[in-house]
Amino acid sequence: MSSSEIHFNAPLIKYRKLTVLISVLLTSFSLIDVKMTEFRKCVFLDRDGVLNKELGYQITKIEEFELVGGIKEQLARFRDSGFMLIIITNQSGIAKGSYGEEFVYECFDKIQQATGHVIDDMYFAPGHDSLSKSLSRKPDSLMFERAIAKHKVDATHSYMIGDKERDLIPAKKFGIGTILISKQSTSEYADYGVESLSAAADIILKDD
Ligand SMILES: [Mg+2]
Repeated sequence: MSSSEIHFNAPLIKYRKLTVLISVLLTSFSLIDVKMTEFRKCVFLDRDGVLNKELGYQITKIEEFELVGGIKEQLARFRDSGFMLIIITNQSGIAKGSYGEEFVYECFDKIQQATGHVIDDMYFAPGHDSLSKSLSRKPDSLMFERAIAKHKVDATHSYMIGDKERDLIPAKKFGIGTILISKQSTSEYADYGVESLSAAADIILKDD
């Protein structure tokens, strides 16, 4: 190969390098764009003591399943700010034989009807440690893992609202912000402690 040929091809090689560079950049921007649009922030909600009143005993009748005041307005605030809403709840009453899965779905329907069907999904753990060990039951985290994978949740921009420490422990594993609703207790796993769902919404929406 003569020196003149090398000189002749140099601009072509530069042009090819440039097109490869542009193509890599475009692919990168495209991947970033997909990533930003694909993953969504979420407010995970414990059920008993957060969405419905905790009566201190296991509820087995739909008439006893009483929603907390203002739930429709508070959940609408989350939805209006772009959060998905997913319930993550332990329901050991199933393992104990107090009620069946159909009762859990009946309660879910009551929440949906009262709130305009704003809940995206619900996960419940039917087991109890005294009867059957389960990785789903909080404080274990399998329900969160399933929800995050299925709904492509952006965990680090999401929150868990619960009324027990065991609601917050699994959320912490994924970098999810934690809010404890309790008038009596605090927890080292709680990023915030509040006394109501509306106060929890105030914090999340201010942070967002
Ligand atoms: Mg609870």
